[in-house]
Order: sequence, then C-alpha cells, then structure tokens
Amino acid sequence: MILPEGNMERFLKEKASRRAFLRRGCLFLTSFGIYPGFFDSLTKKAWAKRGALSLREAMFYKRLANNIVQCGVCFRGCILKEGERSFCRNKENIDGRLYSLVYGRPSAVHVDPIEKEPSLHMLPGTKILCFGTAGCNFRCKFCHNWHLSQRSIEEMEYTYDILPEDAVKIALKKKIPTLSFTYNEPTSFYEYVYDIARLAKKKGLRILWHSNGGMNPEPLKELLKYTDAVTIDLKGFTNKFYQDTSSAKLEPVLRTLKIIREEGRWLEIVNLHIPT
Ligand code: SF4
Repeated sequence: MILPEGNMERFLKEKASRRAFLRRGCLFLTSFGIYPGFFDSLTKKAWAKRGALSLREAMFYKRLANNIVQCGVCFRGCILKEGERSFCRNKENIDGRLYSLVYGRPSAVHVDPIEKEPSLHMLPGTKILCFGTAGCNFRCKFCHNWHLSQRSIEEMEYTYDILPEDAVKIALKKKIPTLSFTYNEPTSFYEYVYDIARLAKKKGLRILWHSNGGMNPEPLKELLKYTDAVTIDLKGFTNKFYQDTSSAKLEPVLRTLKIIREEGRWLEIVNLHIPT
C-alpha cells in the first residue's frame, strides 16, 4: 500500500468508514431477526478467508497435546484449547496453532509529540508515529484507554489495514523519525510490533514502546534487539496493588525493568497518580 498524497487522517478514515459501513449493514440485518451471533460468525469467517493475508502465527508459543497451545509472550502463559481466545483477547487457537488476530489491524494511528509518550530524553521536540490495537493483558480499573485496551477487535469501531511495510513507508514519507507502540499494551500485539521494528531499523528509524512490563524475558530480549527506548509503567509497589487494581503481578514488571537496563536500552519509568 502506498500512502496517497494528501491527508493521512482522511485516508485512514476512508478505509475505516468502508468497514464501518459493512458493520452497520450487518447490524441492520440483525434488526430483521437474524440471530445475534450472526455478525460474530461473519467476522470469523471473514478472518478465516483472509487466512495468510492478515492472520500472523504467534511467536513464542508451544504446541501441547490435543491441539492445545500455550502462549509464552507474557507472564500469564495462556493455555488455549482449539477455538479459545486469549486473556488479552488478541490471540486464538485455530486448528491447534496460535494466531494474532490484530496483526496489521491497528485501531489507533496518530502522530504525537514524543513527550506525550511520555519519553522525555530521546529526540526531544520530535514527532512519533504511534500505533495501538484492541486488547491488553492487564485489567486496570483506572485505564484511560479502556475503549481500546478492554475490547476485542470485533468490538472496535475502527480498524485500519496497515501492514508493517506500510507503517514504515508512512514514517519515511512523513519524515517522522520514530515509530511508537502505545495506547494499549504492545505485549498483546507483539508480532506486529516485532515485524515493524525489524523493518524500521533497517531504514534507520527509531523504535519506542510504552508497556505495562508484563512481557516474558525471552520475547522481551528479542524485541529489545530492535528497540531504542522503552517507557514502562510502574503502577504500584506491592503485589496486592497489582492484583487488586490490574489483575496482574508486580514481579514480572520489576524483572522487565532490570532486563531493559541490562540490555542497555534507554528506559523511562512512569509512576501513575490515580485519582480516587
Ligand atoms: S500475550 Fe496474550 S495470549 Fe500471550 S500469554 Fe499474555 S495474555 Fe495470554
């Protein structure tokens, strides 16, 4: 895909509105008595048809007995039977293999100042091209991006078709020096982040991502090979806080902070102030 001349926002919206039209059409049919699961099954069939075009086989997963799979990207280690969806809502066991459902399908694409990441010490004063999808591996009660993070791709109003090579082309064409993965949790769209990062580094672009820190060491180290800087949320200081507020754990976050430092990547830590 070559980005057409003119306004990127308008271009993205045009693509999204075609999908919104189809969605509205499906909802219209349900109002005529077609059963409520119709849209879901239609969507799944559409994905199945897209096959290799958009489904990306997951990285870092194990195939277990009886077509069961286990994801290894984050501390949760989701174990999924055939047809089951992951905790982050972004992966599914299809015929005994694990696939990312949001690969090349971001729901948020924006140009932001790098300070908004927040990242205050790498190329200050420059812009970042940011990508986010549906889904998250945490359940933070205070999430201000819940409309992305706490939804599946079927529930998104907008999704855009932007493959990794297109993401890099946009950044180069717009002369934006850094690509960023943010808004929702990059761990939950790891394969998309990884493929963009590898391509972007070959073109001399920088890679930044903002994470909750729940990634496992092996995928983390692999992604850090193509990463310049990371912003990690340290949301609290006790395991109880992480369990009660985010349905998560403190220990993987602390481990992630150490690994990023050990690997020599630029690290900024965000500590949230949560109004109660
Ligand atoms: S990244 Fe998603 S699928 Fe993988 S273990 Fe974490 S929550 Fe489960």
